[in-house]
Amino acid sequence: MPAASMIKRNLEKIKERLQKAASKRGVSPGEITLVAVTKTVPVDVIGAAYELGINNFGENRVQEALAKIKFLPPGIRWHFIGHLQTNKVRIVLPVFDLIHSLDSIKLAGVIQKEGEKNDKKVNVLLQVNIGAEESKFGFRQEEVSDALEELANYHNLKVLGLMAVAPFLPDPEEVRPYFRQLYHMFKSVKVPGIEMKYLSMGMSNDFEVAVEEGANVVRLGSALFGERS
Ligand SMILES: *Cc1c(COP(=O)(O)O)cnc(C)c1O
Repeated sequence: MPAASMIKRNLEKIKERLQKAASKRGVSPGEITLVAVTKTVPVDVIGAAYELGINNFGENRVQEALAKIKFLPPGIRWHFIGHLQTNKVRIVLPVFDLIHSLDSIKLAGVIQKEGEKNDKKVNVLLQVNIGAEESKFGFRQEEVSDALEELANYHNLKVLGLMAVAPFLPDPEEVRPYFRQLYHMFKSVKVPGIEMKYLSMGMSNDFEVAVEEGANVVRLGSALFGERS
């Protein structure tokens, strides 16, 4: 099947599922941003998704992303969702609209410096390691509040919310408590100068549960483009 018609069909299904989850939550589906995750997806297929009306795309590897972005329409909003090495900050900032994966104070310091140099305010989400997994990047739950207090002093960095990759559990119902905890944190942290606007959680396997628990940004790869090889 040509990529465009497969994506079209997948997108329709995703929209139906998002709508259901949103209505369970009592929110309008329009309040939820779908970020199409395009790691390993070639440029022409991304272009086809854009033609179908998707305007937010996410990448997790700097080199791969930059190689593709230059061939795609300038109006696309790009989301960086992978671990960002400090030596890549300089090349990432001009291209991405939102960095979901601010995972250390050290990285924040480098972004602040680079932002200051370019007189730019960089939009970021704080990545939270909600499962406290050794294998994952991000702040531990108990570190979030102090980290935000610290980041409020970084004037070229604009924290807009939280992001998490939940532990991988085959049954998405098992992930629900993690999402619920993160939503609670999202709602309860109050730091002067920081507005909690986006809660980025939920992937192909668990996005409905994430939306039911309060996500307003979901990051979908395989549900839209098919399994990655
Ligand atoms: C790959 C990836 C996704 C999308 O994963 P799917 O399971 O294919 O939907 C979302 N978020 C991050 C951080 C990723 O690396």
